Amino acid sequence: MGSDVNLTCRLCGHKHRPIRLAPGERALCARCSTVMATEGRFGPEAALVFSITGLILALPAALLPFVIAGKLGDERVCRLFTGVGALWDNGMRTLAVLVFLCGALLPVALLGAMAVLHVPACLKWHTVNIPSLPRIVHILEHWAFPEVQVLAVLIALIKLGGLVDLTVGPGFWCYCAMAVSLVLAQRSFNSELCDPAPVPCRTDAAP
Ligand SMILES: [Zn+2]
Repeated sequence: MGSDVNLTCRLCGHKHRPIRLAPGERALCARCSTVMATEGRFGPEAALVFSITGLILALPAALLPFVIAGKLGDERVCRLFTGVGALWDNGMRTLAVLVFLCGALLPVALLGAMAVLHVPACLKWHTVNIPSLPRIVHILEHWAFPEVQVLAVLIALIKLGGLVDLTVGPGFWCYCAMAVSLVLAQRSFNSELCDPAPVPCRTDAAP
């Protein structure tokens, strides 16, 4: 909870006293009903747990086969970066860079940034003093799209399913699990760590 100087609504200036939110609750300004803080449904450590889970899953997602395509005895193993390499080799370098950034690098960077922000609060360590990190998290949230990569693979499976024998590899399932972990980490993200926002006295259950 913040100190008294942080208990003023940013929108209307109304002052509040601090309380501790229960999981699933959100704090609203008593005067203007602005949402000032939200506590995730899975508890205060959820964002850290999901972030670390996603980071762990990122390694097998990058190394293990995504899809194994075979026809007439010939077999080809496609991994996470196979599509990026194919786009690059075929001259679509801007698209290759975008797919690499939005589907691989930035989701991992977002998971890492959220973990770094939550570790001190969850383990009672000193707060990490990186002023730009909260801003980086907000920017990364707009550019990390692992779900688009999942959708692209599913479309490719449907399109190519009639032409070659396709087997979904463990890398794809690890990537899907990483994407789910990222979504859950974002939904559990404690915005108070990003912004020492006021914690008002009125709470409602989140919808
Ligand atoms: Zn207000």
